[in-house]
Amino acid sequence: VAPAADAARGGALEVLHRVFGYDAFRGSQQEIIDTVVGGGDALVLMPTGGGKSLCYQIPALVRDGVGVVVSPLIALMQDQVDALRALGVRAGFLNSTQDLDERRLVEAEFLAGELDLLYLAPERLRVESTVRLLERGTISLFAIDEAHCVAQWGHDFRPDYLALSALHERWPDVPRIALTATATEATHGEIASRLKLQDARHFVASFDRPNIQYRIAPKNEPRRQLLHLLRTEHPGDAGIVYCLSRASVEKTAEFLVKNGVEALPYHAGLDARVRQEHQARFLREDGLVMVATIAFGMGIDKPDVRFVAHLDLPKSVEGYYQETGRAGRDGLPSTAWLAYGYQDVVQQRKMIDTSEGDEAHRRRLSEHVDAMLALCETVECRRVRLLDYFGQKSEPCGNCDTCLSPPESWDGTVPAQKLLSTVVRLKRERNQKFGVGQAVDILLGRKTAKVIQFDHDGLSVFGIGADLSEAKWRSVARQLLSQGLLAVEGEYSTLVLTDGSGEVLGGQRKVTLRKEPEKAAKAARAGGG
Ligand code: ADP
Ligand code: ZN
Repeated sequence: VAPAADAARGGALEVLHRVFGYDAFRGSQQEIIDTVVGGGDALVLMPTGGGKSLCYQIPALVRDGVGVVVSPLIALMQDQVDALRALGVRAGFLNSTQDLDERRLVEAEFLAGELDLLYLAPERLRVESTVRLLERGTISLFAIDEAHCVAQWGHDFRPDYLALSALHERWPDVPRIALTATATEATHGEIASRLKLQDARHFVASFDRPNIQYRIAPKNEPRRQLLHLLRTEHPGDAGIVYCLSRASVEKTAEFLVKNGVEALPYHAGLDARVRQEHQARFLREDGLVMVATIAFGMGIDKPDVRFVAHLDLPKSVEGYYQETGRAGRDGLPSTAWLAYGYQDVVQQRKMIDTSEGDEAHRRRLSEHVDAMLALCETVECRRVRLLDYFGQKSEPCGNCDTCLSPPESWDGTVPAQKLLSTVVRLKRERNQKFGVGQAVDILLGRKTAKVIQFDHDGLSVFGIGADLSEAKWRSVARQLLSQGLLAVEGEYSTLVLTDGSGEVLGGQRKVTLRKEPEKAAKAARAGGG
């Protein structure tokens, strides 16, 4: 590109006005862009919707040569490129979905200097011919999007990302900018060291999304609870409902449709064409509800998603933050609502036990889930805890469920001892395997067929828990599980004791439990009236 053409393009601000039609930079966009335009490296941590794309798109337009963007979001490349082309930006992509002719065409454009931006899937860079191609062109910068994928510590590790550290060795003079919307301090450090970005300038934006109201509720009838939320607070709004399994996605979507909510399913088991169509409709139409597994959403830019609901416990706080972050990108009030219960804890623990990979991997998964559980069971401000997880300090927000109706905690030591004693008895008396249902029936003194069959009505603990409701016992069990004071194992989720259980049974350890909000609300009403 001739220097004259370059000069005509003007500076970053001019590009912002002319190409993108925006008045001003947001947050630290200007500084980030200046850094990269000046040839420096940058590591950018900015929440979803913060405006990361411009941070590499504008430098790519201002600097000489082609900006190479590494992104794992193959399914979105076509859309991203189309959107840029609509703005007059010369963009192209190379990934495995293309045939040879398409690829050749893009390669020719690249070599002829007819591209401003080239999007690449990370695995492309493992192919020697791609590297040779890049060496024959002029590169203005490397942008590494979704940079947390390089971190093994994180929740979304992709081995192909490890090879990206070689970029710096091959192109030492080309600036690099790595971007992510989710990174704990540990992940942040790992990104910097793996991508050799220690000398880069780090830009860490606040991860707070003040317009999102975070709420986490105990799960009893999740679909009914969801429907109630949609009818009372989000009628006609667009939103995303996340479920763990494909079956549950299907059932939930059907349930919503039957109840007059326009909902579409989305999961990896659906035909690619159906998925594509549902995604397109969600983006295009107003007020559609997408019921999906986490296969849906990465890179989806729909500003007016008014709620994100989780019907199952996310596997990590990072995942939760990323998924809820798809709500309210337009800055208007939005809801992040999660329902979780005893079964979620059991299920997550089971998945970890049976997961592939070594001990260290399982420990990591376990720590991720524990952090998620701590967020669910906290009596503090959700936002304070959430931001704290990302290493950012904040004050109680006034816009989350615990701030709006502070949950009480209660001394659950005695109930915990009763439940754990029951587990001890069940273990001692028979070589049978029992889950939480049987323990609760025994505590409540219920003579069910299964209780009678195993003579459990003769146990000393039979009926000693009649002072609490079934729901309360389940909550006790769930929280003991969350706190590691009880565990489950095997196919039937048999209750087993942990080291911590011993301390509780021996009276060396007190157990503080969270009072479920419904109960707290009722009590407050009774007290106030
Ligand atoms: P991220 O990748 O961080 O999730 P995007 O780059 O997709 O965020 O930007 C989110 C939205 O904000 C987009 O619609 C984008 O066009 C818009 N945006 C980004 N920067 C600005 C700005 N300086 N002024 C106005 N809108 C902006
Ligand atoms: Zn709060």
